[in-house]
Amino acid sequence: MAGTIAPKVVKLGGSVVTVKEKPRTPDLTVIGRLAGEIKQAEIDSLIIIHGGGSYGHPYAEEYGITEGYKSQGQLIGFSKTRQAMMALNKLIVDALVRNNIAAVSVQPSAFIHTKKGRISEFNPSLIKGMLKMNLVPLLYGDAVLDEAIGFSILSGDQLTAKLAVELKAEQIIFGVDVDGLYTEDPKLNPDASLIEEIKLNELRQSMKKIGRAGTIDVTRGMFGKILEIIPAVEAGIRIKIINAKKANRLYRALRNEKVKGTEIEQR
Ligand code: ADP
Repeated sequence: MAGTIAPKVVKLGGSVVTVKEKPRTPDLTVIGRLAGEIKQAEIDSLIIIHGGGSYGHPYAEEYGITEGYKSQGQLIGFSKTRQAMMALNKLIVDALVRNNIAAVSVQPSAFIHTKKGRISEFNPSLIKGMLKMNLVPLLYGDAVLDEAIGFSILSGDQLTAKLAVELKAEQIIFGVDVDGLYTEDPKLNPDASLIEEIKLNELRQSMKKIGRAGTIDVTRGMFGKILEIIPAVEAGIRIKIINAKKANRLYRALRNEKVKGTEIEQR
């Protein structure tokens, strides 16, 4: 059994596993290819987390799930968000198992509580047990109960960083739909340049949004991702952000081979 090996954690962004602009549309080609790359990489201890993309987000937004409970009318939205995430999760676990990966889905909302959107109750023993058995736990961003506001959304990024820190992961690979962290959002500015390496301190600075020339401009999904990443880097975990829409990038990252992307350094 794998036992004491520090796990690698892979986060597959919602932008990777779904077609973001089209409600409830999976990117089955990419999901299937990534499952193949994960199999080929032959990792001894692995956890996979995926985001919501066009599955979870539309319902969460329509019913204001992130902001917490305000009225009875939201309850069906809570159900629909959970249901959509389970539907997407099923497609991903199917692809993994088809590739002979012993993946097992774990429902985050069945064992995690948040308080004002931040994880407050979380027992990693089940996940640890699965890793010991050489199983591959598969989790996802989810609609969860919240001690302060009734319910909320637990992002896949927050869950990824928490799992990695608690389980003393050796590495987190964040798969997104751009080549890594850029000086600006590359989708809004084609002149933005890819940052291949960044130190923790520079990353902290970029979060202050001081807006002066030379500062990295991190917005939208990437902003929240970097906020979650910082404590994981502080805990000594290696982080790489790669484009998982492109073939072989995840494989190479898992194998510690040279691959285009952003590496975050401790100091
Ligand atoms: P996912 O849902 O796949 O986890 P998000 O869509 O939430 O990822 O975040 C990734 C997106 O963040 C990219 O597609 C990009 O448009 C945006 N983004 C904003 N600022 C930056 C930046 N400085 N560098 C890279 N991407 C950025």
